[in-house]
Amino acid sequence: MPRATRPVITIVGGGFAGTALALQLCRQPRLAEAEIHLVEPREAPGPGLAYSARLSEYLLNVRPSVLSLYPQEPGHFAAWLARQPESLGGAPEFASRSAYGRYLSEELAAVLVPAAGAGRVQWHRTTAVAAPLGPDGRRSVQLADGRSISSHSVVLALGNFPPPPPAGPDLRYLTHPGYHADPWAAGNLRRIGPTEQVLLIGSGLTAVDVLLALRQDGHQAPLTVVSRHGRWPAAHEPPSAPYPNFYAALASETTVSGAVAAFKRELRTAAAQGIGWQPVLDALRPDLGRIWAEWPLAERHRFLQHLAGLWAVGRHRSPPQNAQAVAALMAAGQVVLHLGTVREIIAEGDLLRVRVGPHGEVGSWLTAQHVINCAGPLLDYARIADPLVVSLREAGYLCPDPLHLGILTDENGALLEDDGTPAPGLYTLGSSRRPAYFESTAVPELRLQAAALAAHLGA
Ligand SMILES: Cc1cc2nc3c(=O)[nH]c(=O)nc-3n(C[C@H](O)[C@H](O)[C@H](O)COP(=O)(O)OP(=O)(O)OC[C@H]3O[C@@H](n4cnc5c(N)ncnc54)[C@H](O)[C@@H]3O)c2cc1C
Repeated sequence: MPRATRPVITIVGGGFAGTALALQLCRQPRLAEAEIHLVEPREAPGPGLAYSARLSEYLLNVRPSVLSLYPQEPGHFAAWLARQPESLGGAPEFASRSAYGRYLSEELAAVLVPAAGAGRVQWHRTTAVAAPLGPDGRRSVQLADGRSISSHSVVLALGNFPPPPPAGPDLRYLTHPGYHADPWAAGNLRRIGPTEQVLLIGSGLTAVDVLLALRQDGHQAPLTVVSRHGRWPAAHEPPSAPYPNFYAALASETTVSGAVAAFKRELRTAAAQGIGWQPVLDALRPDLGRIWAEWPLAERHRFLQHLAGLWAVGRHRSPPQNAQAVAALMAAGQVVLHLGTVREIIAEGDLLRVRVGPHGEVGSWLTAQHVINCAGPLLDYARIADPLVVSLREAGYLCPDPLHLGILTDENGALLEDDGTPAPGLYTLGSSRRPAYFESTAVPELRLQAAALAAHLGA
């Protein structure tokens, strides 16, 4: 970045990742004079999609000790939480996501213009729609409100996009009022009457949240959950002593089967000491990106095909109270799990008919007034229709990866063009970097990416 002029950095997306980056940029001594812009259309930057939750039942899925914004200060969030009204009787073991949203807003407010004397970051309440490269080597970030920001560096912190359509080829159901394409769209679930039949696609953390929200809203009719593997997210066990890191045992494994065998050996060693699988898996958390990076493309593909479902339920766990609530709903017959894959959805008047079955078989037809797609975000950047993504993709600056997990990037998060060279002044962080790390979704990984990218931009 040229030093003769004041550096201008524009972050597109003001959820967790954009917020963490803005805060880290403000800590860079060489960026003390930098102009930092944050583009975010929500009513306030900070909480993003995950932490704008309306219900107190929506809990963080990990304990406060791992949720600090700053990797340099691991106890920062836990200390903040301990000072909040909800901690009067003792800090909650799993705080609400709205409390975390408050934490992010407060931290960001301290650096937003016009924070008393300290404002460094200018928030623009709009979306970015394009970021072409000008002849001066700067990117012109074009905003939906007609303005533009001439920037030396642009960072995409766009978060997750709503799930893709679960079934085809007839897509007319997408416009049916009972089809809920985005489980997080504001006011979405409020359109569902208490006695209406509801079918959820997917049984991961999103489905758990939707079930809890419907229960909270007084939903009475039984709910059907269609799940490919029939598993709910594992529940967190009580905290235990950390298990020693055993990355060395996997470091040389370049196949999925080799890594799984090494992991199973470690599980047996742990079991012999009375230690369960959770601390063993957690011990590898800091090294998951390195293990993934060691595998050739074919092995990564194999993992996605055969193990990604199992991985998701073990790695992305529920607070125990959420897992208990789901178990109670199942035991009471309020939630019925239907094993299979959704193949077809047909709109018939007020109803949606859903065909569920194994590949190549007719399967069975289920009927509901509402179908909610909880199948997980669309990661394939070749299919994402967001105007900014489309314009960058069409200009050749943004290349989707061959496994449809995100964007091709270098080790700093710079977007890679077709020929493998970094696109000038264009970076990303967050789930878009899954091709490089696989695990690039949760706070512990994202805050590290934010700190590293800020250090790179401030070098
Ligand atoms: C419901 C839910 C619960 C979660 N719970 C946890 C948890 O408990 N613990 C955990 O570690 N992780 C959790 N996660 C993972 C979560 O993805 C990360 O923790 C984190 O919130 C992701 O931050 P992000 O900034 O990448 O995305 P987001 O927070 O979604 O932020 C992206 C932002 O970009 C904005 N944006 C998009 N396009 C544009 C554009 N063109 N112009 C301007 N702005 C744009 C959006 O408005 C959005 O606010 C959860 C995720 C979800 C969806």
